[in-house]
Amino acid sequence: MSAPIPQQAKSKSLRACLLCSIILSPADFRKIGCPNCEDIMQLKGSPDRIAVCTTTSFEGVIAAINPESSWVARWQRTTNYARGMYAAYVKGRVPEDVEAELENKGIKYRPRDQSDLD
Ligand SMILES: [Zn+2]
Repeated sequence: MSAPIPQQAKSKSLRACLLCSIILSPADFRKIGCPNCEDIMQLKGSPDRIAVCTTTSFEGVIAAINPESSWVARWQRTTNYARGMYAAYVKGRVPEDVEAELENKGIKYRPRDQSDLD
């Protein structure tokens, strides 16, 4: 699966998923949700969820051709990560209810605005 590649990677209107760092336009998040973590984030058709689970505060756009090697691979069972644009740095963290849901699934959430130590 491939995520839509935003036409203007530097556009301030683009948003990054707080969980997997993929970058999409708000319209794409509304239309398809997050290609990697929609089952947890449930962004599709939910502007309110998009507002709290994605952010415009990100830096360092990376075109991820092999996102299997990213941190996402540690908790996603599938290796079918969306190819697309990812942010190197995302400010903020997921809402507490999302974090609780991750814990229920045995996933330890790491905010993407801290350096990964392992
Ligand atoms: Zn995501």
